[in-house]
Amino acid sequence: MNEIIQVALGERSYPIHIGAGLLAQSGALLAPLVAKSARPARIAVVTDETVAKLHYPAFAAALTAKGMEPIPIVLPPGEQTKSFVQLEKLMEQLLVANVERGSLIVALGGGVIGDITGFAAGTLKRGVDFAQVPTTLLAQVDSSVGGKTAINMPQGKNLVGLFYQPRIVIADISVLATLPRRELLGGYAEIVKYALLGDADFLAWLEQHGAAALSGDEHAIAYAVAHSCQMKAGIVARDEHEHGERALLNLGHTFGHGLEAATSYSDRLSHGEGVAIGCVLAFKLSERLGHCKAEDVARVEAHLAAMGLATRIAQIPAATPPGAHRTPIVKSAATPPGAHRAPIVKSAATPPGADDILAHMRHDKKAKGGRMTFILVRGIGQAFISRDVPEDAVRAVLAAG
Ligand code: NAD
Ligand code: MG
Repeated sequence: MNEIIQVALGERSYPIHIGAGLLAQSGALLAPLVAKSARPARIAVVTDETVAKLHYPAFAAALTAKGMEPIPIVLPPGEQTKSFVQLEKLMEQLLVANVERGSLIVALGGGVIGDITGFAAGTLKRGVDFAQVPTTLLAQVDSSVGGKTAINMPQGKNLVGLFYQPRIVIADISVLATLPRRELLGGYAEIVKYALLGDADFLAWLEQHGAAALSGDEHAIAYAVAHSCQMKAGIVARDEHEHGERALLNLGHTFGHGLEAATSYSDRLSHGEGVAIGCVLAFKLSERLGHCKAEDVARVEAHLAAMGLATRIAQIPAATPPGAHRTPIVKSAATPPGAHRAPIVKSAATPPGADDILAHMRHDKKAKGGRMTFILVRGIGQAFISRDVPEDAVRAVLAAG
């Protein structure tokens, strides 16, 4: 039941392979991409400590079986890894590993590994080919496809990066069996997002089969991943650099990023959890502005809730009391003089307040000329871009939680 989806970008086109047990076929899939001059091929495999323990041995064995020599480069897990410090270490290890231009760098992991490895590959020796082998649901349906690569800065997430497409994406759905439920649900929120932005039939399918997909039904999860990739591939092929349509993929993200920032990128709220609440808020805002019906809002909320995702701001767990430890995902630096920056909330109220979230949303990097960009909907599967949403309407939707 392997599926292949093409991302059509002229000479930079590439396939996305989706199926169960693909890790074992990776040697055969990657071998043709390595230049003859670079053989016997040394393949740098960038991964994190968690994925290294769970899935590197099988992946390495598949490469070795096809005459390649995998060289593991293991980074710490977590969002903090998307930093200049880790990038420099990664670059040094790639150079020490003597990765040649005709060779291949592999990102084996979630979106963190994919983003930093893609950025390293795109800039090392002015560009070395790379492959995405995504191991989280979020990475399989979103971050491994489309060529956005980046690291974070103290000023915000993903602020330094480039568009650099992989040569191939290999999404083995079998590796999702080891993924914690919370990570699985976060990825699922992005799957629902595709349905909400452009495919009402897909939402109906998810309402029927989403639970099975998340409970290990391989046919169901493979279909959900493939359909999501198909939608993203289509959008990326039409608008690679996000001059228009690609922005639709940010449905739920203007709100989601505001919520993530207002909770200090802590483990109170993951990205996918923010997207789920953000999608509901985007539907509520659309309804308030007269674009969609109340029953659409109710349907979206009901499905996300049925799957076990929070749908309201009030459900975000309490801030840890002062002195206790939560890991900030993006370290906050002192604000440079004159820089505009949302105030950092020291002891966040529970749940985050409307004005606080709004302040963070205004500083989102997708705000253009001071105006926030929203993805609104005319109904399920009918998203559009809007830059003239009255702030009062946004505040009212946030305040209603
Ligand atoms: P992640 O890479 O941090 O992975 C989440 C956790 O799961 C990590 O602890 C990881 O070690 C662990 N893990 C990975 N695979 C596993 C497996 N098979 N079994 C058990 N544990 C496993 O996070 P993510 O959610 O995959 O990605 C989030 C990142 O992706 C963010 O940095 C975000 O900015 C980025 N992103 C990028 C794009 C893009 O277009 N480039 C799109 C969306 C998100
Ligand atoms: Mg996202």
